[in-house]
Amino acid sequence: MADYDVIVIGAGCGGVSSAAILAHQGRKVLLLEQSANMGGCCSTFEKDGYHFDVGASVVEEIQPLEIAFEMLGTRFQDEVELIPCDPMMSFIYYDGSRVTYPISIEETGRVISEMSPEDGQAWFRFAKYFGGMTETIMKGFLVSPATGIADMMRLLVKTPELMKYAPLFVMSYQDVIKKYFKSEAVQRTMSYQSLYLGLPPELVAGLFALLPYSEHEGIWYPRGGMIQIPAAFVRCGEKAGLEVRSRARVVQVVVRRGRVEGVVLEDGSEITAPVVVSNINAKTLYLDLIGEANLPWLARVGMKSYEYSKSVPMVYVGLDYEPPLEAHHSAIAVSPGEMSDYWYNNAMKGVLPDREFGLICWPTKSDPGLAPEGHHVLNLIPEGFYELAGTDWDEQKEPFLERTIEYLSSFAIPGLADHVVVKDCATPLDFERRLLLPKGAIYDLQQDIVSQTVFRPSARSRSVKGLYLVGNSTHPGGGVPTTTASGVIAATLINRYER
Ligand SMILES: Cc1cc2nc3c(=O)[nH]c(=O)nc-3n(C[C@H](O)[C@H](O)[C@H](O)COP(=O)(O)OP(=O)(O)OC[C@H]3O[C@@H](n4cnc5c(N)ncnc54)[C@H](O)[C@@H]3O)c2cc1C
Repeated sequence: MADYDVIVIGAGCGGVSSAAILAHQGRKVLLLEQSANMGGCCSTFEKDGYHFDVGASVVEEIQPLEIAFEMLGTRFQDEVELIPCDPMMSFIYYDGSRVTYPISIEETGRVISEMSPEDGQAWFRFAKYFGGMTETIMKGFLVSPATGIADMMRLLVKTPELMKYAPLFVMSYQDVIKKYFKSEAVQRTMSYQSLYLGLPPELVAGLFALLPYSEHEGIWYPRGGMIQIPAAFVRCGEKAGLEVRSRARVVQVVVRRGRVEGVVLEDGSEITAPVVVSNINAKTLYLDLIGEANLPWLARVGMKSYEYSKSVPMVYVGLDYEPPLEAHHSAIAVSPGEMSDYWYNNAMKGVLPDREFGLICWPTKSDPGLAPEGHHVLNLIPEGFYELAGTDWDEQKEPFLERTIEYLSSFAIPGLADHVVVKDCATPLDFERRLLLPKGAIYDLQQDIVSQTVFRPSARSRSVKGLYLVGNSTHPGGGVPTTTASGVIAATLINRYER
């Protein structure tokens, strides 16, 4: 008799959603998290009265979250208070000027027309095309398994409209943006989102050019910080009997005769279960926790072939003034060419750029309760990478933190450096140590086109029976809604195959 029906390793969004759903469906579930906190990259911490989000800063495309909470017999909006973020994004150019896009498609068209009438017209064609695509994707793609060719065929039968978008698989994100928008100033406002995939626009598949459109479908911030989402899953799961243990690091997944039998914790104790759900990096899972000896050669080779995804440093600042920004999210307006240049000459060579760019998140614009009255919080996400030539992040952490504050003060957030009351920084090395993300990889594995859907590690393991994957490492990849979708998929598959 096993100790539990299911053991879930890791309390990221994929882990907490799958654990809660499986508990709600009547299984005896144990959730093991190595850190003291729930949520992994979707979490919030407090420092001197200021609340900072660890990584994720908003949610978009919330349908998978709505589906997951429906499966728990409740509503996402009843469990988490969602604050709409409008404007969608403010873009800050290197000369300090800015362009701000509202959520409204119409209003955005007007703003773009002021920069380029031709591109203003193109915006409406772009929005119409990708509006249809978003609907199609939400209808079937995100919460459907992609464990093999049969799943993909089922998906195509369910959503034949997907075929209409086939050309986007042979175009790059950059091709699509340049096809629609001719003004360089406008292209700069459409390019940043390719970094959500961790790559510059020329290396991202064309279908992801939907991102600058899809953000107009709505952006939300949970009151109280991003932690509220995983906390709601844990709360619902616990009501159904879910058992949660924090500070419980799994060091081995026990596999005998090709089937999981449980896990071993750092203190040497073994806990048994016929089903294990992994929310950790798939390479760590297969190559370290299961071990190469327990894998067929093809699985060993396949797993080693995956590249790690990008990593980022984060700078957290508490301020005693209201920063001169216009939206919850602002991005430095970089051109596709500058992003490629950064990729080849900085990221690939380990050389930090002179001119940083990235995302500025201003959560107290949406939820003032995250800081003392009249004070504010900014979470800054400059682009970065794990390997630094001739140095490392421990050495660079303090200078990087100071440089980022000075640099953003110089054109993007005037006055910033004079108003910092609290500051902190999480480097890629910190992400690796705190959340056990190898190489600080925030999406676990690269998200290029050859590592998506059936090419990503399967949600139902092909080499170990009883083993299921959730989170960044499996379909549909990184993001709060998408990793929650993976939790829904795993629960669906476990119900299908593990009676
Ligand atoms: C800087 C940054 C900004 C982002 N912005 C956004 C955004 O705005 N919107 C959005 O939707 N997404 C965003 N994302 C992505 C999103 O946060 C992640 O894709 C998502 O939260 C990952 O969820 P996951 O289920 O893969 O688990 P993870 O968050 O990777 O968590 C895995 C958990 O497993 C635990 N663990 C690891 N190893 C073990 C072990 N051996 N034993 C026990 N526990 C273990 C870890 O401690 C961790 O808690 C951002 C990410 C980052 C880093």
